[in-house]
Amino acid sequence: MISEEHTKYLIGNYAAPAIDIVRGEGTKLWDSAGREYLDFASGIAVTNIGHGHPEWVKQVTRQSGVLCHASNLYSIPEQVRLAKRLVERIGPGKVLFCNSGAEANEAMIKLSRLVAHQSEQPERLEILVAENAFHGRTMGALSATASSKYRKGFEPLLSGFRFASFNHSESFRQTVTENSRAIMLESIQGEGGIHPASDEFLRDMEILCAEKQLLLLLDEVQAGIGRTGEFLGFQRSGIRPSAVAMAKGLGGGFPLGALWVSEPYAEIFKPGSHGTTFGGSPLACAAANAVLDVLDSESLIDSARDHGIYLQSKLEELKTRFPNTIMEIRGRGLMLAIAMQHDPAVLIKLMREEGLLVVAAAGHALRLLPPLTVSQKELDDALGIIEKVLQHS
Ligand code: PLP
Repeated sequence: MISEEHTKYLIGNYAAPAIDIVRGEGTKLWDSAGREYLDFASGIAVTNIGHGHPEWVKQVTRQSGVLCHASNLYSIPEQVRLAKRLVERIGPGKVLFCNSGAEANEAMIKLSRLVAHQSEQPERLEILVAENAFHGRTMGALSATASSKYRKGFEPLLSGFRFASFNHSESFRQTVTENSRAIMLESIQGEGGIHPASDEFLRDMEILCAEKQLLLLLDEVQAGIGRTGEFLGFQRSGIRPSAVAMAKGLGGGFPLGALWVSEPYAEIFKPGSHGTTFGGSPLACAAANAVLDVLDSESLIDSARDHGIYLQSKLEELKTRFPNTIMEIRGRGLMLAIAMQHDPAVLIKLMREEGLLVVAAAGHALRLLPPLTVSQKELDDALGIIEKVLQHS
């Protein structure tokens, strides 16, 4: 039930919500009237280990009683531990913490600028980004986002970004100039409608970056932290990026962003060059360390892969049965989309009324992003609701 005070006191930058949410456990959410929902949105790819995971609650509770915040003037053991674990999972390099996906991308853009200014060719500042990408709402991340629906009303944006077609190596080759410094990509475009980069495209981008001496910057904010069946979405293709932005699933619901920077660029940021008050607080890092513990102890990355294969095959069956409604099934692991022939808003509403929460994305896509802890029964229950709604629509 939405109170009148919601619209009275909250700025309307989000669409008016249809329900409120007051409690969560595992894959389940409840509204204030006690209605239960299957959460196949995970706070948009955030609660990858489910709501209120006992291990996460234990570690966050323990840390909140010990130390929540101390600032980056001091060494924070939880932060050091988390950085080490990220380096072990990604590759030789170092980590910088922040609070969100947009901030992680801001730091990645600033890294590219610093590399340019510290080089003998400071005029080489341009970053090539993909059309249909989404990198966040802050002015730098927004400038890296091509879609006019996000940019409109906020111009003038930062200069120095050039747009090329996603998954088209030739388009990137043609867009590179002598002033290019970096290529920035999502391994799976999330807000853009769940479009995976092909392994071939990512490898071509790695080759192009090596040829033209460009940084390869990966935005793993949505596809990261186990969701695709790899720790990070790009890892399947075997490429070696210069930097990787992470957030969303990293804190498991506690705000945390991180930028991993590969060894050759790990000393580019110097004292005073960048910073944030809250980034990498003891509490946020304890939450993320708990997420990594649970990913390992419950083999959730393997589950994402296996459950993803199952869910995708069942969705393909539905596509065969409902060809006039479903255009395509896209994605990998538990980052999937049913691309509809028409606007899926009504279907999403009907699914919610049946107790299933999913989330829209560009191009008539209906995104399925369940927690990686989702059970076989919950997958089948969700599929049952999707089928029922398709039958009656
Ligand atoms: N990058 C990607 C790929 C995203 O999907 C998002 C958010 O949806 C962002 C960046 C921005 O992250 P945040 O909303 O935490 O700023």
